Amino acid sequence: MTDIVDEIRGAYASVGITLDHPATYGTYYRLLCTGCSRIVGNVGDKLLPGMAATLVDQQFDLYAAGLVGCACGHQQERTRALDPERWAAARRRYASAGGAA
Ligand SMILES: [Zn+2]
Repeated sequence: MTDIVDEIRGAYASVGITLDHPATYGTYYRLLCTGCSRIVGNVGDKLLPGMAATLVDQQFDLYAAGLVGCACGHQQERTRALDPERWAAARRRYASAGGAA
C-alpha cells in the first residue's frame, strides 16, 4: 500500500466512501459506499500528493446535494456531519438550479 493510496483512502473516508481492492492492475480502485457497500465509482492511483483531498473537497457540494454518491444517502449524511453550513448552502444552491448536474 503506497502513501498516495493511503491519502486517497483517507480523503474519501471523510465523506463516507471506502476504497476497495484494486479493480484493474492496481491502478484503479473501486469506490464503495461505506453505508451500504454499493459501488459508487472508481479512482486512479496516479494522483499526486494533495490531489485526493482537493478532489473530494471540490465534490463536497455534489455529495451534500446528493448529485453524486450513493442513492442510500450515506454521503449526504457524512458531508452534513463534516460541515453543516456548507451542506445546507449546497443543497439550497442545487435545489434552485433544478437538480441539473
Ligand atoms: Zn450507500
